[in-house]
Amino acid sequence: MRARLLTALLAALVLFPAVPARADTPELPDRIAAAWRTDHLSVDPRLAGGIPATELTRIRAAMRTAGTPVYVAIVPSTPPLREVSYNMPTLLHARIGTPGLYLLAVVNGTYWSISAELYRAGGLRGRELVSVQNDDKQRLDVVTDRPAPPIVRTIQEASTALDGRPLPAVPAGDLEPPHEYSDHGLSTTDKEDRSAYIGMGIGGFLGFVLTLLLGLRRRRKTTPKRIKPPAKDDPPIDTWDVQLKADDRIKAAERAVARLDRRRNRTTAQLDRRDDAYRRLDAARTLRADHPEDLLASAGALILARQAERVASGAALQPPCFFDPTHNPGTATVDWSDDVEVPACQQCASVVRRGKTPRGLRVWSKSGLLGHDRKQVPYWTLEPDNPMVASGFGALSDDLPERVEAWKDEVR
Ligand SMILES: [Zn+2]
Repeated sequence: MRARLLTALLAALVLFPAVPARADTPELPDRIAAAWRTDHLSVDPRLAGGIPATELTRIRAAMRTAGTPVYVAIVPSTPPLREVSYNMPTLLHARIGTPGLYLLAVVNGTYWSISAELYRAGGLRGRELVSVQNDDKQRLDVVTDRPAPPIVRTIQEASTALDGRPLPAVPAGDLEPPHEYSDHGLSTTDKEDRSAYIGMGIGGFLGFVLTLLLGLRRRRKTTPKRIKPPAKDDPPIDTWDVQLKADDRIKAAERAVARLDRRRNRTTAQLDRRDDAYRRLDAARTLRADHPEDLLASAGALILARQAERVASGAALQPPCFFDPTHNPGTATVDWSDDVEVPACQQCASVVRRGKTPRGLRVWSKSGLLGHDRKQVPYWTLEPDNPMVASGFGALSDDLPERVEAWKDEVR
């Protein structure tokens, strides 16, 4: 297995320089966008013929009744795609420009994974897609060895997010068969699977109670704020929004890790990914639990949960945008002050390339006598006595989970 992986890696290393980074074929997002001009369901030519017509028919039927334009691209997993698949719906929407659901389905062996973003027409309000997915009790049980079940489910969730229609039940044929523990007695792996799963269940429940309590507490606090003009002490960006996003991402990561936990015959690589995902997820939960009101801790939790979800789903790890971790991931690298190289999102990268410093994530700093001179400063100008500032939310060094752990012991 190892030898095969090594051979594949070597083959990739040998092959890649031979293929120019920008071959004469258009880049993948351009190719997909071009294909969508004639058909909103695009199947990569490398997969053509490999997907049963019945699967495509089901996907088309779901697209027709979604209540919004749905763009679906089905592509094979390739190393360059693994770097960007998280951003692909955004890149694709940028090329098409119309509101709708943008869905990328990537197949890796027999495993289908979905990235999707819902873009609404201006003024239309509804729920976030990820929030509907978190509440979808059946999402975790949908099989991922065929394209139609996870794609159709995602389209249904998007419709619910858009117009509040109830989520239909998943057809029995799309659900993973229940584990048969009683038949042959429990193997060691099954026992581990089961205890980890039960653990997840309890953790999930506690997490839910915690979120609920935090939500209730904050709602009471924030209601009067909406009536009054914003107080001077209000954080410069909506902390509440970052907290919500972090909690949504934590739930999404829990789903991804649980899904990986329940797979049988996991490879060593999958077990390593599971451990790494848990490490990041635990740190995210610690930050939310120990510093529920803190903007930096919430943003740190958001990043760690986003990474845990990616790692558990088999996608490549992405650093955050150094300037503002709530931005898109840091897929570009830029030279910044004193020739420090930092990962940055595309927007911040273009600002730096113009010789400017991005606005960045701003926090209130107390300065002056009695801390009366309060002003908004970029977070990286603060004393690095907190793990998020010290590591640039993991953008400068990928050790945020360890730093959070050490910080927890320090604070106690
Ligand atoms: Zn940025």
